[in-house]
Amino acid sequence: MRVLILSDIHANLEALTAALEDASRAGFDDVVCLGDIVGYGASPAGVIDQIVALAPRLIVRGNHDKACAGLDPATDFSPLARRAMAWTRRQLSPEALRTLAALPRGPLAFDADTALCHGAPFDEDFYVLDTMDARRVLMDPPARLCLHGHTHVQTVFHTDDGVVVDETPAGRAKHVVVLNRHEHWLVNAGSVGQPRDGDPRAGYAILDTAAETVELYRVVYDVPRAQQRIRAAGLPAALATRLASGK
Ligand code: ZN
Repeated sequence: MRVLILSDIHANLEALTAALEDASRAGFDDVVCLGDIVGYGASPAGVIDQIVALAPRLIVRGNHDKACAGLDPATDFSPLARRAMAWTRRQLSPEALRTLAALPRGPLAFDADTALCHGAPFDEDFYVLDTMDARRVLMDPPARLCLHGHTHVQTVFHTDDGVVVDETPAGRAKHVVVLNRHEHWLVNAGSVGQPRDGDPRAGYAILDTAAETVELYRVVYDVPRAQQRIRAAGLPAALATRLASGK
């Protein structure tokens, strides 16, 4: 089975459309979403509709989904994120807000080998940024493979005889992670709608359960159109400019 992994779409319909087109060429049979469907971008309703239409097998909530649904006061949000959240809440129908409010907190079991979460299994809002952070997950892992998001950077950490190794790829349109059965893996699918590694291309991943691989992808999308929507919506201009720099 090939499972499309979408994370941190952040209401960016242009990026989601490009990722889905690219993923269709690569091929997938199932979909999971690792949270932050909305927040920052200018197409929250369109992105929620698109995700609902895809009927993912599992969706875990992200911190922005939780805040937009009114389940979190978002006191730790930056002023930019808080403004975008207030705007997003005004755009969404009661039904769309109920969809966000109903999303479960991670970690969720995809199968016996694979768990899904937004930030980390022990804290949905935790940022796994480096080997020290990854160690906290990999020393008490929820499954052999843990897929997550939240940092908006595609990262790959795994154990190797008890040592945590960073095998984060750089700069390729496609990178294949070959999962070693005897080790534990922590793979960040990256962000579809707001990458932060200096590369503006949308990021997503595909888990191939038969091949025991995770494919990490980056795909060019219509950044100017997504920026134009953000400006036209009256959202902070910084949310548009950062899409071009991928930061
Ligand atoms: Zn996010």
